[in-house]
Amino acid sequence: MRLTGGRPDESGLLEAAAPLLLLAPSNSRHALISGGSTLPHRGASPNGWWFPERPTVSEISEIEWTDSTWNPVTGCSRVSPGCVHCYAERFAERFRGVRGHPYEQGFDLKLWPERLELPLEWRDPRRIFVNSMSDLFHERVPLSFIRKVFATMEAAHWHRFQILTKRSKRLVEAASSLKWPENVWQGVSVEREDFKWRIDDLRRVEAAIRFLSLEPLLGDLGELDLDGIQWVIAGGESGPGARPVRAKWVRSIRSQCRKARVPFFFKQWGALSHNPDCGDPTAKENGGTSKGGRMLDGKVWNDLPTLRTAFSA
Ligand code: SF4
Repeated sequence: MRLTGGRPDESGLLEAAAPLLLLAPSNSRHALISGGSTLPHRGASPNGWWFPERPTVSEISEIEWTDSTWNPVTGCSRVSPGCVHCYAERFAERFRGVRGHPYEQGFDLKLWPERLELPLEWRDPRRIFVNSMSDLFHERVPLSFIRKVFATMEAAHWHRFQILTKRSKRLVEAASSLKWPENVWQGVSVEREDFKWRIDDLRRVEAAIRFLSLEPLLGDLGELDLDGIQWVIAGGESGPGARPVRAKWVRSIRSQCRKARVPFFFKQWGALSHNPDCGDPTAKENGGTSKGGRMLDGKVWNDLPTLRTAFSA
């Protein structure tokens, strides 16, 4: 999939997710992005910001279901077992103390007001993953700042924005004072059965598209209430120490989605040893760094939501 993202000079600094998209394993961090596990070559730009020497952010991505990332906030703190191998934390901490780097402060929470209007500069319509390196509803992100993020999303109506949180209580608290334009998709992460209450919280939000990221899937989620949910993503954990996902957990989710007519997207097994099909041809994609392949029972599941499915669900 094509990735288009910020050039080093678009925002005054390189969108920090640019190297991330090229190299970060999709262990956790709401676990939406897949990528390689090795650092790209990097250099310092003339204005002191770091950027990949090759290739540029607009050329390559392994993101399956989004086009760009936008990080008006970076940094976060762990809230549940799905955070244990958070790729964003691992990535950001590599640069703690590196002067001039966007992650000089490591994974400490940081607001970036200067990035707030960046999507308005992107003229071509994109799906934009908001805060791939943080959680917009982190308790230390002021509501006033969240409102500014939403104002940009409303103004940039030609894009579709995808927000994902593990902090569904804060989401619900904030939601009533936010305006929810149709181009804002809101999701929650659920990695284990004892966090399914986040889905109930999500249902209380007036987003046109509500979605679930069941990744890193750490156990059988059992019965899912998919009422009011327009999209489900599932996937196993990847990267060092990845915890295994079982095919029966994924099949259960898929069959519940089919029954409820909810689009289902299977992102990855996480590691080849977790993939029940050792001949999965997708496991060889991207030079063998494809996170163990993404076929389930001989098929790639790439369903995406539409507003039509949202309003007919
Ligand atoms: S909630 Fe924060 S720490 Fe947990 S996975 Fe997401 S970004 Fe990482």
